[in-house]
Amino acid sequence: TPAATVAAAARAASPRTPLRYLVTGAAGFIGSHTAEALLRRGECVIAVDEMNDYYSLNQKQHNIDVLMQTAASTGAELRFYRGSCEDEELMRGIFTSERIDRVCHLAARAGVRPSIKNPHMYIQANVTATVTLLELAREFGVDNFVYASSSSVYGQNAKVPFAESDRTDAPVSPYAATKKSCELMAATYNHLYGLPTIGLRFFTVYGPRGRPDMAPFMFVDRIASGKPINKFGDGSSCRDYTFIDDIVAGVLAALDSPRPKAAVFNLGNSATVSLNEFIAAIEEIVGRRAIINQMPDQPGDVPRTFADLTLASKELGYRPTTSIRDGMRKFFAWYATEYQQIKQRDEAPISPPSPPLSSH
Ligand code: NAD
Repeated sequence: TPAATVAAAARAASPRTPLRYLVTGAAGFIGSHTAEALLRRGECVIAVDEMNDYYSLNQKQHNIDVLMQTAASTGAELRFYRGSCEDEELMRGIFTSERIDRVCHLAARAGVRPSIKNPHMYIQANVTATVTLLELAREFGVDNFVYASSSSVYGQNAKVPFAESDRTDAPVSPYAATKKSCELMAATYNHLYGLPTIGLRFFTVYGPRGRPDMAPFMFVDRIASGKPINKFGDGSSCRDYTFIDDIVAGVLAALDSPRPKAAVFNLGNSATVSLNEFIAAIEEIVGRRAIINQMPDQPGDVPRTFADLTLASKELGYRPTTSIRDGMRKFFAWYATEYQQIKQRDEAPISPPSPPLSSH
């Protein structure tokens, strides 16, 4: 359209013109880090999050506070909308008033085990929300639609390492099935409308502001406070743990490289760590021995994850650099300081009502 051409010309003439990014799930772990990195680059961030109580709202509020401080110190523009991506009216209002250039859709119900108990909620929050955004993205003609997928799409019997071209037709949890469904819907919108879409299959992400329901956080929290940890299986199960800064570099590279054909990339660390090795590393960093509660294997869990990064490296220049020990040290530094303040707020007997979040 002529308007798009004029906008593109304006951008080319002035490379400093900030682009307008819709970041969904911006109060969450990966969303808050991505939004922060965009603000530091001077971009305009339109943040959306429904602030659900899947984990501590004080932690999500803390993440939003970090974004507000970053915006204040960099002078970059940040706008926050509290609401759900499934809310077509709200999202249409945002697309209409905010003139979104690029979408970074990271909002989702994450977590494998709860999805087995509550599959309908996962379909709604993950699939319906993604389709709502895809519809608006093609209608408003955004430059690029980047969204979170997951290593869980590879299922239980995948050969290692996992390559993007491997079969993904045997998910072992409703969560994994919703992520695969999002990939299929994105590919459909690309095929039908030429919408550039990139799905990113994240492999167990950890780091400061990490998710309290995930093993890296839970293990550190429990070992540091002398509480037993639940160890599922014999400890030989392996995970490809990826540090948040490496993930953010991959997300930004994807946002910066729209491509004509629907694409999907692994974003992992390609350095798989067994559960036993992982626990030993945490014991060393925290300086305490773990008390182990031995549990049987969990349904829905896969025995190992391991990313083949050939494609992401070639197409996105993605090269993770953080070792598990360095990454877990950085996580522990955050846990021992900022997280303790969040925890205190969580444990306060009567928490004062938090001020309403600004909504535009
Ligand atoms: P998170 O739970 O910290 O963040 C997700 C945020 O989205 C939350 O703040 C939540 O309130 C919000 N949200 C959820 N559904 C919403 C909806 N329908 N509308 C608006 N807001 C909504 O999770 P995360 O670890 O940061 O994960 C981000 C994305 O990456 C998710 O799509 C997740 O499935 C995917 N992923 C994460 C990992 C990981 O290791 N953390 C691995 C694979 C994939």
